[in-house]
Amino acid sequence: MIDLRSDTVTKPTDEMRKVIAQAEVGDDVWGDDPTVIKLQDLICELTGMPASLYVPSGTMSNQIAIASATNSGDEIICEASAHIVKYEAGAPALISRVMTKQIKSSDGTLDLEEVQELVRPENIHFPVTSMLCLENTHNSLGGRVLPLDYIHKAKEIAQANKLHFHCDGARLWNASIAANVSMKDYCTPFNSVSLCLSKGLGAPVGSVLVGLELFIEKAKRFRKLLGGGMRQAGIIAAAGIYAVENHFKRLKDDHANAKLFAKILSEAEFLEVDLNSVETNMVFFKFKSDIDQNTIINKLAAKDVAIGAAGKFTYRAVFHLQVSSDEAERAANEIVQTISEISGNK
Ligand SMILES: *Cc1c(COP(=O)(O)O)cnc(C)c1O
Repeated sequence: MIDLRSDTVTKPTDEMRKVIAQAEVGDDVWGDDPTVIKLQDLICELTGMPASLYVPSGTMSNQIAIASATNSGDEIICEASAHIVKYEAGAPALISRVMTKQIKSSDGTLDLEEVQELVRPENIHFPVTSMLCLENTHNSLGGRVLPLDYIHKAKEIAQANKLHFHCDGARLWNASIAANVSMKDYCTPFNSVSLCLSKGLGAPVGSVLVGLELFIEKAKRFRKLLGGGMRQAGIIAAAGIYAVENHFKRLKDDHANAKLFAKILSEAEFLEVDLNSVETNMVFFKFKSDIDQNTIINKLAAKDVAIGAAGKFTYRAVFHLQVSSDEAERAANEIVQTISEISGNK
């Protein structure tokens, strides 16, 4: 099966399993796990951020950030299809009891004049606006990369309005490789950044939240509260270290495979792909048909190509360390052929 449903489907490699087996461990809730400490130090060094916290998932990482930076009843500004808004089961409302103010975007950048307009003035009638969240790369918009100069402009707005500036950087690794911007340059404009180890980097579990020392102290309490304090977590943190050290630079291969795949699809008669939007490891493509999307997805799965749906008529393919360039090409050709058959049959 060429599994392009997501980069979360990656399985630990043999080498990764070796470092997992050999990991030194301790009780991380007590701060005693040397491998977790090593991972957190490594991430601080890479991102240039003073403190970091290993957490079970990207969702928990974002939610801990929101809980640590807001008070109940606040408003936070996000893109309308941000992971925080769309894929975290309503957690901002449930856990932090904040409201989201959403701005629509086609590439992940929020119109900064609109952001400024959404910030509530000081008035006892109004909720307090306390946070501005960006997502880099932006998942629902196709793995789009935020330009560094945009981030600096957004930071000015955040600072001028005393907003905590958070980045959901689940795939910031991909943005860094694609834009040739260091993780440090991408992270330091923010007050906090959430980074996933279990997407393109290929670790089995885990995310890291980075920020200032006081913020991370607060975050540690929320991690415990949410049940995310883990004991001998070095077992999985070891895989995270291995992933950062060995699978970060190779993300360029996934980006090349996504482009190769997109190019083949773009030449097909019945498919629509915006090649300019393919900036990282994701390809969104359109096929307009009255045949049910699941039927099409199942037809492809029967030919050993797994893709996902990303809205009406839109499909998503994600490239990762367990898809070679041959497989990317094979998957594209299989899709073109299947879609031609379906279209020809009508
Ligand atoms: C995957 C992802 C997350 C975190 O997801 P988990 O499944 O909770 O690890 C957060 N933000 C974005 C943009 C993501 O793509």
